[in-house]
Amino acid sequence: MYVVATPIGNLQDITLRALAVLRAVDVVAAEDTRHTAQLLSAHGINARLMAAHEHNEARAAAQIVDRLAAGEQVAFVSDAGTPGISDPGARLVAQVRAAGHPVVPVPGPSAMAAAMSVAGFADTAFHFVGFLPPKRGARQSRLQALAAAPEALVFYEAPHRVQESIDDMAAVLGAARELVIARELTKRFEQIVRLPLGEAGAWLRADDNHLRGEFVLVVAGAPPPEGLDPAAERVLALLLDELPVKSAARLAAAICGAPRNALYARALELKR
Ligand code: SAM
Repeated sequence: MYVVATPIGNLQDITLRALAVLRAVDVVAAEDTRHTAQLLSAHGINARLMAAHEHNEARAAAQIVDRLAAGEQVAFVSDAGTPGISDPGARLVAQVRAAGHPVVPVPGPSAMAAAMSVAGFADTAFHFVGFLPPKRGARQSRLQALAAAPEALVFYEAPHRVQESIDDMAAVLGAARELVIARELTKRFEQIVRLPLGEAGAWLRADDNHLRGEFVLVVAGAPPPEGLDPAAERVLALLLDELPVKSAARLAAAICGAPRNALYARALELKR
């Protein structure tokens, strides 16, 4: 079974290999057969289609396994981008592999990679979050859990929730953090802006069009924690040779005027 990436907007964004595979297979399993029929027809491909979406994934997987067992070749596509990235596919892949058939990726577009490629953050490490929970409490807890991560955070968001998600990001991650809003990538009204989280709400409200379409949000990683004064660290290390962690941290703080919590955390690290 081939797992094939398809365009995220611009129908030209499909690889030569993907087209060849979609043309050659016996059946194309698609998240939405009507949507995929349009893509195939734009490229002059006349394939047999079957539905394989979130709600019938297990049944569709069983049918696909039967076809593969009969010697057929199958391609699986989602509506846009790479299957399995905030999209169905994982269960299908697992079932096909468990039945002993090879699963072959045919890579191509993904909104996450497209957004990172134009975000312009110097550090290439990033944490792909996908969609945040729709309810505010759960969303804020998730953001809280991500707040200290040093890597850029990559979110998918729907137009009707983008405003409240960005408000929560500014509140939990801090207004000063840089945000890249990548809207309608590869489409006619593509827009990529970079601004501090604290200014993003006003930007969204400035124009109704800013709230339309599909969004990837990339937030810069947390700034590194302020380092300890090297002199305080030396005193701490000396005291730790003679004293328990808590006393060493307290005395080092008193001697050097450095923050006790930071010294305590460092003392624990040194002890380990
Ligand atoms: N599997 C897809 C991929 O590889 O990117 C993602 C599918 S997910 C169901 C759909 C979400 O991806 C959208 O809500 C949006 O956050 C993001 N997305 C998809 N196409 C996009 C585009 N052209 N511009 C910006 N974001 C896009």
